[in-house]
Amino acid sequence: MTPAIFLDRDGTILEDHGVLTCAADVHFLPGVVEALQALKRRFRLFVLTNESLVGKGTLTRQQVNLVNGHMLRELHRDGICIEELYACPGAKGTCCKCHKPGSEFLVDAAQRYGLDITQSWTVGDHPHDAELGRSAGGNGIVVLTGHGQKHRADVPKGVPVAFDLAEASRIMFAGMQ
Ligand SMILES: [Mg+2]
Ligand SMILES: [Zn+2]
Repeated sequence: MTPAIFLDRDGTILEDHGVLTCAADVHFLPGVVEALQALKRRFRLFVLTNESLVGKGTLTRQQVNLVNGHMLRELHRDGICIEELYACPGAKGTCCKCHKPGSEFLVDAAQRYGLDITQSWTVGDHPHDAELGRSAGGNGIVVLTGHGQKHRADVPKGVPVAFDLAEASRIMFAGMQ
């Protein structure tokens, strides 16, 4: 059983520009590549992203795939393998089970990859990113990049808050048993 990290995309890995439509919109936040290079030695890495703008009609699935494909290729070039990227195309407020904090993708990954959820983390710049891991029996952490500062007051007590993914990675390593 391996531990895993489920990363939010916008505001956690990538700069959040609101609407990302093509490869040129992909900009990694500072320190993210180095943090992932360290984390991949102990954790399997996944990306979990709510692509609400698809459901809203602002973005097409093709645009989302272009952005995700470019991000994954860039990470791969830097030696980082993302096992799976899970994207929910539902609009905000959708009731599908894969829209964060819904846990369908996480449960699916845990079964397919034999993950130890108790030792795994969900990470993101929104409280629901951390809530997901905790409600699934694992752990969650909020980063203050992206919209993190804006939502800081909504982070439940007991949930660790990190300045960015680099600091979050130190907290996750320290929490390993
Ligand atoms: Mg985000
Ligand atoms: Zn969904």
